[in-house]
Amino acid sequence: MPPLGYSMKDPTLVNHPPAVPVPEDNRPLVAPIYQTVKFTFDDVEQTLLNERGQRPGYFYSRVSNPTLRQLEETLARLQGRDACLLTASGVAAVNLTLLALCKQSDHVIVFAEMYKPTRAMARRILHRYGVKFSILSIEDLQGLEHALQAEPTRLIVFESPTNPVLKIADIARITALARAHGALTVLDNTLAGFHNHGQFDIDLYVHSLTKYASGHGDVMGGAVIGKRELIDSIRGDFIVTGCTLDPHAAFMIQRGMKTYFVRYQRQCENALAVADFLAQHPQVAQVSYPGAIAHPAHALARTQMKDFGTLVSFEIAGSAAQARTFAESLRLFAIAASLGSTDSLVLPPQLLQPGDLTREQRQWSGVTDRTVRLSLGIEDAGDLIADLRQAFEKAAG
Ligand code: PLP
Repeated sequence: MPPLGYSMKDPTLVNHPPAVPVPEDNRPLVAPIYQTVKFTFDDVEQTLLNERGQRPGYFYSRVSNPTLRQLEETLARLQGRDACLLTASGVAAVNLTLLALCKQSDHVIVFAEMYKPTRAMARRILHRYGVKFSILSIEDLQGLEHALQAEPTRLIVFESPTNPVLKIADIARITALARAHGALTVLDNTLAGFHNHGQFDIDLYVHSLTKYASGHGDVMGGAVIGKRELIDSIRGDFIVTGCTLDPHAAFMIQRGMKTYFVRYQRQCENALAVADFLAQHPQVAQVSYPGAIAHPAHALARTQMKDFGTLVSFEIAGSAAQARTFAESLRLFAIAASLGSTDSLVLPPQLLQPGDLTREQRQWSGVTDRTVRLSLGIEDAGDLIADLRQAFEKAAG
């Protein structure tokens, strides 16, 4: 900016503080946060060139911001793709993806085993705008094939492992069926993480960054990752719906990503140790952890995943009331939603019920009135197991 030609009065100065340039060969080790809504060029021409994509730069942080861009590039690369869009929460990432890809009279397939708000999106919002949907079981690939044959389908939206009972979707078969019938696939990869499932022919991955990416249970965010062409085709819809991630949240999540692999590995080790403990416990009827040999889809999980996630669910050999007492007796596991952060959490059956499903769909979901979901943190495995042991004793009465 050219000099003003007169000296600023104090009220002006505090709103136009002196710029502090950093020499080009003197870089900050951590990228500074661009906590600004607006960016400016010196003239209208450069601003217009930027708006038309004819010169690099930024104008408005709802559209783009360097702090977000850095996180987008990090996550896309980890997932093995070249483009990413960030949103204010995981649910926003899922829902905006569905809104951006569907139009009136399209057909979408979702599953009884998946995160409830995704089904709610199909039922409450997409349906209202004339998008049809079917709910199937992720284990029923024949049913999936029939549904695809019966009706042209725009989208298959699924998870693996599923939340909360940790079934494993056969991703290669689902993507092959989708391709054969001209449907797009959206994989909610939140539970598996960015380093898993990149080898599959998935069109778009969605993630809640609230989980492993932020990692400490203090920031929300979401991401959609895919090939640039497809991401560019939905970018405009994301921008006008305005669910952008705030630069401060992006900065915190980028910071969280530094320890992503260390945390994930430790959490997986804890999950396996806890699954082994539960499998031996007389008050446990059944354990679900994809990393355990006893898991019905363990062999499939081994072919698909590098590691097996940080959730363990189990059926208590007792009543729903005992499951509740068990959860309330834990000291190191908080009764709380979400997953994937450093501290361990528990959800008893009373907080897991898929109330939106029919009786048959509830059976597919695998959630019963005895299901308990544990989310493992990075604490000491021995301490966690001691806590589980004493809570079982209390639940036994
Ligand atoms: N997808 C899955 C599989 C989840 O478990 C969750 C949250 O628990 C979400 C999406 C939504 O993420 P957020 O809480 O960031 O909106």
